[in-house]
Amino acid sequence: MSENTSDIIIIGGGVAGLSTAMQLAKRGASVTVLEREQIGNGSTGRAAGLLGQLRGTAEHTRMLMDGVEIVKELEARAGVEIYVQTGSVRVAETPERAQELTDLIEMGQSINFDISEMPIDELAKKMPYMRTDDLTTACWCPTDGHLQPAELASAFHKVGRDLGVHYETQCPVTGVLLDGNKARGVQTPKGEFHAPIIVNAAGPWSYLVAGLTDTTLPTAALGHVYLTTQPDPENPVDRLSPGFRNRHNRVYGRPENGGLLVGIYAEDCAEFDMSSLPPDFDMSSMKARRDDLHLAMLIHAAQQRFRWLNERTPMHVTTGIMTFTPDGLPFCGQLPDHEGLFYCTGFSGHGIVQSPAIGVIMSELILDGKSSYDIASIEADRFWEIPGFQDRTEIQQRCYKMQSSYYGRVEGKTAAAAKEVGE
Ligand SMILES: Cc1cc2nc3c(=O)[nH]c(=O)nc-3n(C[C@H](O)[C@H](O)[C@H](O)COP(=O)(O)OP(=O)(O)OC[C@H]3O[C@@H](n4cnc5c(N)ncnc54)[C@H](O)[C@@H]3O)c2cc1C
Repeated sequence: MSENTSDIIIIGGGVAGLSTAMQLAKRGASVTVLEREQIGNGSTGRAAGLLGQLRGTAEHTRMLMDGVEIVKELEARAGVEIYVQTGSVRVAETPERAQELTDLIEMGQSINFDISEMPIDELAKKMPYMRTDDLTTACWCPTDGHLQPAELASAFHKVGRDLGVHYETQCPVTGVLLDGNKARGVQTPKGEFHAPIIVNAAGPWSYLVAGLTDTTLPTAALGHVYLTTQPDPENPVDRLSPGFRNRHNRVYGRPENGGLLVGIYAEDCAEFDMSSLPPDFDMSSMKARRDDLHLAMLIHAAQQRFRWLNERTPMHVTTGIMTFTPDGLPFCGQLPDHEGLFYCTGFSGHGIVQSPAIGVIMSELILDGKSSYDIASIEADRFWEIPGFQDRTEIQQRCYKMQSSYYGRVEGKTAAAAKEVGE
């Protein structure tokens, strides 16, 4: 094959594209990854790196359990240690949230996920820097942890390269070549690249890449913010302190360099039109103003759990752009309009933790035509031609609404049953 011809082209060198490329190469496919800037400097480079396996459903939790095992295999293969297994807690301060945790513990245990209730006095000892006197229930997932997303991207990249993946950086895809409705290749400023299979893994830009074939992709680019405090001798945070999720206050976090990282899924977030950003836009250049409304919301929410945290606390603020979908679940697979065009996007704030298993799923879909996982809820065509999911303004509103309710909604079988009877 010539240098510009391969079995599969992947557009986007974030964790989704890199993991997919590695898994495809493992199975013998020749793969080219085309990245408009540098590897890992889209959403991937901005992520907080939490790897929480517990999700609202058994199939998603199972997928993420496998993902942690894949990260461990990746560490062995790349010769790096990236995963910090701290365990994580979810905490509840209202009856609805307590019921949510009870339901999730039952669901997790039914699929052999290591999860149990943690007494509040034990939690208070583990996390003395967190307010616990108003909590009624907590659950403990000892195999959860975190990593630095750049290190995960670099490990996928390294193992992929050893398996023969070709990476082309500073190489934006500007056009998709079709034979009728069949994928044939792409256009870039470095010339044409040819392959019968093309994967759109362009993160927040993926709806623009879909637009190159006049396809409407129901994703939106939404802002996200988290803060990282500097070490505070009065409130030390051990490097192996648990990650946490407090959905009632909409915050999550983990230890970082002796300080505390706290992020928020607030009711309100910034919205981005990716087409209006400069072609060489680098997400790592994004800065949050100290008087930013979203930062103020984050500090206020964080304060409900960490009383010592306020506007004057020395901290670093990170902002970035996430790819949201109307139901908060990714798009994996093909759409009916073009043969050979695959989508791997829409990770709605959880692409780091999902990427290891998603690489396997994508390689199965591409090479076998089906996946060994139950992927009904993440299939790319689930909104195909459904009214309300075709117009960008409506899509934007639906994705925004999903982000706003992301932590606000209550999960678990009791909440699902109540929703069904319309309570
Ligand atoms: C602030 C923040 C915190 C987060 N925290 C977490 C977390 O704790 N845990 C978690 O699991 N997830 C987290 N996420 C989400 C996670 O970062 C994303 O879900 C994940 O990185 C998505 O990976 P991706 O490969 O789909 O997209 P990206 O990393 O954005 O990669 C897409 C790539 O495509 C490239 N590209 C775009 N257009 C083109 C083109 N035309 N041609 C070629 N290349 C192109 C881009 O340059 C980019 O590098 C966070 C996100 C943000 C912003």
